[in-house]
Formats: sequence, C-alpha cells, structure tokens
Amino acid sequence: MIVVMDSGAGEEEIGEVEKRIKSFGYDVHRSNGVNCTILGAIGYPREDVRDALEVMPSVEKVVLVSHPFMLVSREFKKDKTAFKVGEVEIGGEKIVLMAGPCAVEGRESYLQAAEAVKKGGADILRGGAYKPRTSPYSFQGLEEEGLKIMAEAREMTGLPIITEVLDQHSIEIVVRYADIIQVGTRNMQNFKLLRELGQINKPVLIKRGMSATIEEWLMAAEYLLSSGNYQVILCERGIRTFETYTRYTMDISAIPIVKELSHLPVFVDPSHGTGKWKWVPSMSLAAVAAGADGLLVEVHPSPKEALCDGPQSLVPEKYSQMIGSLRGVAQIIGRTL
Ligand code: PEP
Ligand code: MN
Repeated sequence: MIVVMDSGAGEEEIGEVEKRIKSFGYDVHRSNGVNCTILGAIGYPREDVRDALEVMPSVEKVVLVSHPFMLVSREFKKDKTAFKVGEVEIGGEKIVLMAGPCAVEGRESYLQAAEAVKKGGADILRGGAYKPRTSPYSFQGLEEEGLKIMAEAREMTGLPIITEVLDQHSIEIVVRYADIIQVGTRNMQNFKLLRELGQINKPVLIKRGMSATIEEWLMAAEYLLSSGNYQVILCERGIRTFETYTRYTMDISAIPIVKELSHLPVFVDPSHGTGKWKWVPSMSLAAVAAGADGLLVEVHPSPKEALCDGPQSLVPEKYSQMIGSLRGVAQIIGRTL
C-alpha cells in the first residue's frame, strides 16, 4: 500500500502515521518526493487498514497496490508520466527520437554524426563515453573526453544528450555533462547504482536486463522512484532467447504490457534488439505501432569503421528514410513524430 502524505505534513505527523502503519504489522519505506512524502506500507494490502489510515488528517490518500512494484504502477498513478528535458517532452503525444552512434569515437566523427541525425529528425543525441564491453580488449570509450565531445555536440545542435553511466564512481562526472542518464542492460539490477541514481535530479533511462522478466525490470525502476527520482524512462532492448539469427529477441509484447502496468514512458532500442541495421526500421515501426513513447537508435556515418556496434548501426540516409515511414504510423495511431 502507498500512503501519500499531505504536502504540508510535518515530521511529527509523518512519524505518527508511520507508527500507525507499523501497528498493523507493516514495515514502512519512506520516500521523500519533491512535493510530498510517500510512505510505502510493505505487506499484504488491506481495505480496513487503508480506511483507518485515510482518516488521519495529515494523510492525503492511500492507494492499494496489488503488484510488488508500487510507485511505478498504474494503480498508484493513473495518468501517464511526462516530463521535459530541455524543450523535449518525454512521455507526451510526440514520439521522441534518440539517435547517434553507439560510442563517441572522436570529435570529428561524433560531431558529424550529431549533425546528420539532427537533420534526419532526432530530438536527443545518444553516445557512449563509458562502454560496457564483453571483451576487456575492446574499445572501452573515451570517458570524460567523450562527455566533452557530446557537450560540444549539444552546443552545436541544441539537442539534449543521453549517455550511459557504468558505476557509482562515475555518476558525478556523467551527471555533470549529460541531460539523461542511461542504465545499461548489464546494470539493470545493480541496486546500489540505482539507489544512487534515485538521488540525482536528472532523468534516468533504464534498459531492460537481457534476461530480466518484466516484473524484475519494473522492480529495478522501483529502486529509482523509491529513492526519490520520478523521472524514469523504461527501455526495452531485446532479451535472450534460443534464437541466434538476431543478436537478441525484441520483445514487442513488453510495450503494451508495461504501458498497462506502469505510468512511466516506454522506449524501445531496436538496434540492440536485433543486432542488424537491416531489421531496425521494421522493429521501429512495430514499436511505434505497439505504443512506444520513443526510440533509441544507433546511427553511424560509416558503420564499417565503427569501434562498437557497427553491424546494427544505420547510416544517416537510412535513418532519415526510416523516420519518414514512422511518421505515417504515428499519424495513424494519433501521435506525432
Ligand atoms: C548501448 O546503448 O550502447 C548499450 C550498451 O546498450 P545495452 O545496455 O542495451 O546493451
Ligand atoms: Mn551499442
């Protein structure tokens, strides 16, 4: 159950409510939001307890939640979550396009890619400065130099930037440069990292773990919200199955399911989802048709020379063609692009 305190409630009143919740045998998790305090009553939801708490004067409302994830659930918040990053609204009517190379490889090539995706129709620039590579011998990213290049690209294009944070030590530096922080598939259940990212005041995009169930993914997002960060984007990026023809298997069905279970914006990464640029346009069309709020797409001016994920990167020309066909689908489902 979730107990939403009145915005004017003071420490003493909050303490009284916590005591009352505990008297029914529940544990209490306190989350200090920007506007009000939320108390999670951990245990089986009961209507009589809800009624008993709701009559307390400092309590605004009590919500019964039937899922283990509470703050991310639609039961807690019926309306879709939307927020702005600069001029870009995430979770609104417009489908948001995040695009750019997998990794920042150098100044010239990144600025060229940034200009190209802007021209092709991107709202946000992507790029990796800290890369989670399977092999320790592969290119690991340019680190702060990469972040500086991304910041320059933001200046040049006027587009906000998204980049991945790999560990707790680099949160401070990544947050200093980035507009949106990406948590990669391999870190989805790095709970210490999530708790710390719950305390920053920048949006976090959390990818689905490649072997995570939808519930595990939503529980990971719950770590962010329950630590105080409500600006969270969920991103489906393909899961491990027995199929080897594609790099991962795009779980398109996760989109409508998660949108029903949660109020958070849902994005799709068709590049990692398929592992091949050729399948990216069809999966993007499918994602938008299924209700995705945005896409995260890898685009590289010369994929053959890319230091990371070249085979799944679209060339800018193919990217802009894809945006053209996405417009048609967006229009049919009553959204813009
Ligand atoms: C990426 O976006 O480049 C990336 C590493 O993604 P994922 O965590 O989904 O593999
Ligand atoms: Mn990549």
